[in-house]
Amino acid sequence: MHFFRYRNGHLYCEDVDLARVAEELDTPTFVYSAGTILDHYTRLDGALAPLDHLICYAVKANTNRSILKLFVDASAGFDIVSGGELYRVLAAGGDPAKCTFAGVGKSREEIEYALEQRVYSFNVESEAELEYIDKIAGVKNARAPIALRVNPDVDPHTHEYISTGSHENKFGIALTDAPAIYERAAKMRNVEIIGVQMHIGSQITQAAPFENAIRKVAPVVRELKSKYRIKFFSIGGGMGIVYRCALESGSGKWWHDRGGESSAFSVRDYAEAIVPPLRELGIRILVEPGRFLVGNGGVLLTRVRYVKKSSAKKFAIVDAGMNELIRPALYHSYHEIVRVKQTKSERERKASKIDIVGPVCESGDFFALDREMPKLYEGDLLAIMSAGAYGFVMASNYNSRPLPAEALVRGDKFALIRKRQTWEDLVRGET
Ligand SMILES: *Cc1c(COP(=O)(O)O)cnc(C)c1O
Repeated sequence: MHFFRYRNGHLYCEDVDLARVAEELDTPTFVYSAGTILDHYTRLDGALAPLDHLICYAVKANTNRSILKLFVDASAGFDIVSGGELYRVLAAGGDPAKCTFAGVGKSREEIEYALEQRVYSFNVESEAELEYIDKIAGVKNARAPIALRVNPDVDPHTHEYISTGSHENKFGIALTDAPAIYERAAKMRNVEIIGVQMHIGSQITQAAPFENAIRKVAPVVRELKSKYRIKFFSIGGGMGIVYRCALESGSGKWWHDRGGESSAFSVRDYAEAIVPPLRELGIRILVEPGRFLVGNGGVLLTRVRYVKKSSAKKFAIVDAGMNELIRPALYHSYHEIVRVKQTKSERERKASKIDIVGPVCESGDFFALDREMPKLYEGDLLAIMSAGAYGFVMASNYNSRPLPAEALVRGDKFALIRKRQTWEDLVRGET
């Protein structure tokens, strides 16, 4: 469920008027809803209750320390892809014994750090990496807990612009090669086989690909369980969310709300598909959702700076750009964009097509092209919806634009959880 609703023509995040946040913190600013994020977590956790399971939040989707703290307090685990992410999790009070360390290119420093902190598992993506981890663990007189990431080679049917299918092969180890590599690992002195992992892609909107992958890998899990007594099977993340879910002008409803469910597939469908085959395995199950937990829980607030008309087109130039939210530029992805204040007369503004673009010197710097929008004026405050995942984490200083502020709403309160950068910040560390 989302906690973004219109009340008396103002868009609220939980019980906070977003116009107030913009007035106090200026724009562009990312605003997150703790209630929405925790609601997603709780729903998923409940749906997986029949299994011995751990939800490992995929940190890369949103790394802000206050967001991580929400998951620490909810007793979640973490899926990390770098030493920096491990550092952040620890800084937020997270337990390294609940961290799985993924990624195709782990460095020596990262492996050493993760060994020292005693992460739960290294999710290994190649034979070369396995050997390297064995070597480093040997030098450190440690034993590295490992799981191989296997590639079940299923079509995840994900959205065309963010399909990772063709890249999937860079990740993981072919299912047919896995038994031999496990055998090699079993002979290594400094690694301990503790699990098996897979991740089939991102923004997957159906339950079937997850179920297919699980059924494909299940025989291997059984074999590994009897041979090496592995402790867990991680089924990865990738659950999709709804991006096209306009808040109907004024009425305050999400079009795609399905009984309060805002995810693209329902948690219930997902659980119904995956719980039975997983239950049969009788092993601890890890899931690694990122986008699903935080995506719909954040918006990017931005203000219209100029409205520009040419003979052929109309543009609203806003104060956020691709350096704040790169998803539209990078994947042509769709984000709902709504006005934060809709007084009655404003609601009657005639709709027309407009490009909503940023100030960055790139033609790719847009949030929406030919979008049907009520007439926009300079100074209008907009909310770019579903910006909680892969938003701020992909922000850059391109065009020497300071990184935006981030705020977290809880009930009727909001807090600044990351200060807006200043121009001085831009040159810090440079000589
Ligand atoms: C990115 C990633 C995830 C999270 O993906 P989402 O689509 O955000 O759920 C989980 N596991 C691994 C290994 C990843 O690389």
